[in-house]
Amino acid sequence: MALKGLDYFKFTPKTNCKACGKPTCMAFSMDVAAGKIEIGKCPHIKPEDLAKLSEASAPPMKTFKIGAGKAEFQIGGETVLFRHEKTFVSKSLYGVNVTGDNIDKALPELKKVDYVRIGERMFCEVINIEFTGDKGKFVDAVKKANAAERVLVLSCTDTAAAKEAVEICKANKPILNGANESNFADMSKIATDAGVLLGVSAKNLEALHDTVEKLEAAGNKNLILDVGTTSAKEAFANAVEIRRVALKGGDRTFGYPSIVNVGKLAKGNHEVELGLASIFTIKYGSIILLDSLDYAKALPLFGLRQNIFTDPQKPMKVEPGVYKLNGADEKSVCMTTVDFALTYFIVAGEIERSGVPTNLVITDAGGYSVLTAWAAGKLTAGSIAKYIKEQCGDKCKNQTLILPGKVSVLKGELEENLPGWKIVIGTNEAVGIVKFLKDFKG
Ligand code: SF4
Repeated sequence: MALKGLDYFKFTPKTNCKACGKPTCMAFSMDVAAGKIEIGKCPHIKPEDLAKLSEASAPPMKTFKIGAGKAEFQIGGETVLFRHEKTFVSKSLYGVNVTGDNIDKALPELKKVDYVRIGERMFCEVINIEFTGDKGKFVDAVKKANAAERVLVLSCTDTAAAKEAVEICKANKPILNGANESNFADMSKIATDAGVLLGVSAKNLEALHDTVEKLEAAGNKNLILDVGTTSAKEAFANAVEIRRVALKGGDRTFGYPSIVNVGKLAKGNHEVELGLASIFTIKYGSIILLDSLDYAKALPLFGLRQNIFTDPQKPMKVEPGVYKLNGADEKSVCMTTVDFALTYFIVAGEIERSGVPTNLVITDAGGYSVLTAWAAGKLTAGSIAKYIKEQCGDKCKNQTLILPGKVSVLKGELEENLPGWKIVIGTNEAVGIVKFLKDFKG
């Protein structure tokens, strides 16, 4: 069971020396219990107690880095079952299933989905190469996929093929998804020697638990748990049970990220596949594998993921500043909006589509949308004028400012606060910005 603040407090010397960076031993203990600071930050706890407490205060789910370079990602490290309790920390990664037979067609296809949404690159992060019995084709497919700058999952229970494939791509930190009740010892050696994560599957949850215990006893704690492909119902129940047992039951044997192959569960039905991928994004697929990922699937899926894996305690904001778009300089017109990331990226995208050089002035509006920020007193004539006077002197000599149409009420006060500036009412909706700027005569 997870320890409480008082459990840790008993082991501190209660001198409030502040060496840990906290004002008191009690504050330190409460933060340790909340997972905000490591118990080892107090240099005065006895080594024998520290060993015991470190084990107890370790996160309930392990965190791993997989992939390399532009395709390096973190998985695991979750501490809550529901996003609203705190936040989810490692977004689900999406991948496609390929084999030695279709790799040449599949690789160009998966590169087609690649776009930016609210500052985040959306693309297929994982390639799952499945062993279909032909070692030569499998190894050849791994060589080709290894050059695609994606995380590779090697789905292979054949130890000879797995060993050869891992050797090819081990520098890019793939996942060897091939251990089961009968081959786990050999697969564990291949994965451990190569320094890669090992995927474990079993015929049911009890067998999976047993196999993980044996792997841990043999010293391998770099694991990811495959929730199975028998049926969607069973895979979902397994995913939920694994997460619940690890986080609420305190059973570290299941304290690993999970992998789910919705392509196999959907059996060729693309609508079902998309539905399952959505479900496992919410509960609790660390890596979700599909048979294909085109824009029709990617747009709803990546949008859902971005909503689920943002911290509900932090507004999605961009930094205040003067963003020079389309090659804008000090003679270009200025436009302002709020620092809410979604608003910023939509407005910036429309300005870019217009091709008109524009200085987009972003003030600190609390991370709210335009009307919410205005209603909350975060977007006022005073705040905009103050920012422009302090930050935009040399950058905006054009002295024309386009306001969001929804806060046209600020125009008069802004003209008073910014003598010499021309204040223009812009569009109510971002969709009108392209035409507005193209027609704008300054
Ligand atoms: S370093 Fe240890 S003894 Fe000092 S305040 Fe922190 S918890 Fe207390």
